[in-house]
Amino acid sequence: MKIYKLPQRTSAFLFDMDGTLYTHSEYMRFQIDSPIKRLAGLRCVDFEEMKREIAAYREQWAETHEGQQISLGNTFTSFGISIEESIRWREELYDPGAYLKADPRLRETLMVLRPSYTLAVVTNNPVLVAGKTLSVLGVGDLFSVIVGLDTCTVSKPHEAPFLKAAALCGASPKTCVAVGDRYDIDIALPLELGMGGVLVDGVEDVYKLRELC
Ligand SMILES: [Mg+2]
Repeated sequence: MKIYKLPQRTSAFLFDMDGTLYTHSEYMRFQIDSPIKRLAGLRCVDFEEMKREIAAYREQWAETHEGQQISLGNTFTSFGISIEESIRWREELYDPGAYLKADPRLRETLMVLRPSYTLAVVTNNPVLVAGKTLSVLGVGDLFSVIVGLDTCTVSKPHEAPFLKAAALCGASPKTCVAVGDRYDIDIALPLELGMGGVLVDGVEDVYKLRELC
């Protein structure tokens, strides 16, 4: 875990979801591979070839953007798949219940935070998938706000989802803390917006948040 900044007074936590509120490499891989497989089918190319093309695009993008990462949704727009189409694909393809299960330790942690802070999820997954994921993890009732890819139809690290989440929490951005597992996607922009930022290696680091508050 790396704490970049904590506000003097925190009122809301804006959590990334995948790789942050759960750690599951197989499901994370599935979420990347399954839309690429569908794209390969549409373009009539081999899945492995499609994977190479996507990886090459993302590498080249990083080279021309000072090493930053681009989200999969934004990558897909360059292959002719709109954000709206990506949302539909994810809703159809992703089944968190097939991979994840209730996490009592996460629930216990969030229960400690919840009386003092508004809890929000800001994810590049659609709200429908986010809601299912939180329910499977057994923490769906603890989040007041879910901002998904379909909320603003722009992908993190765009500022819109973060500002929308802060507004829905009724919180000034300066009193929000973004928590996520990818610096370029989850943390860098919130820091620019004056938010706090905590980079985690996975849900095990989220369990430690209660010690910071
Ligand atoms: Mg993530």
